[in-house]
Amino acid sequence: MAEPGDPADPELAGRLARVREEIRDASARAGRADDLPALIVVTKFHPATLVRDLIALGERRFGESRHPESREKAAAVAGLLADSPAPEWHFVGQIQTNKARQIAAYASCLHAIDRPELVNALASISRPSPLDVFVQVNLTDDAGRGGVDDAGLEPLVEQVLATPTLRLRGLMAVAPLGDDPDHAFETVRRRSERIRSIAPEATALSMGMSGDFRSAISQGATHLRIGAAITGKRPRRP
Ligand SMILES: *Cc1c(COP(=O)(O)O)cnc(C)c1O
Repeated sequence: MAEPGDPADPELAGRLARVREEIRDASARAGRADDLPALIVVTKFHPATLVRDLIALGERRFGESRHPESREKAAAVAGLLADSPAPEWHFVGQIQTNKARQIAAYASCLHAIDRPELVNALASISRPSPLDVFVQVNLTDDAGRGGVDDAGLEPLVEQVLATPTLRLRGLMAVAPLGDDPDHAFETVRRRSERIRSIAPEATALSMGMSGDFRSAISQGATHLRIGAAITGKRPRRP
């Protein structure tokens, strides 16, 4: 981790401005100029000072994928910004069942709910309001990539709906490497339409990363998870 006094990255503002412009452009092409997706800047492996700089540039939603790095960063950012409102932390990575409750203590949204044990673990969290979650769908045949397979989707959605501590926002996915992203994101959109019959309010779609967010926008993404295109190259895993 860098130290609190680290100088800001002079390229950061330019990269952020370019990504914002591309989001506006892709949204206009998709006929949704007045309905821009939410941007979650993925800051995993980057120091808290980068988050502070992004907040100064107007961002307020950040994505993290590893606990406890994420918890430490959330606390460090709160310390750097004593007078400003806390940002939203979105946990976008796979969640170990025995860490779920700890993550729910600082995250405002979990994007990778993908199995019944995880929902069970979150059933007893105590919060003033339900925790926003996305169910992650797996678009590959490899169970290790995270996400629920097609046959397990409805049962998992039913389980989340029956869990009062959680509020289902919609589906999340990562497009498989080497596949056509339009095709992958269209599949997510179709699964999302399918679950509306049991979860009419779960309309959100968390999809689109640095390399494929334009495609995700064309398929209806409501939440983009963009890292490197904004933050620059990630430092190696700490
Ligand atoms: C790292 C990560 C991202 C951001 O990826 P980039 O290619 O850096 O934009 C998005 N979603 C998840 C689940 C991630 O782990």
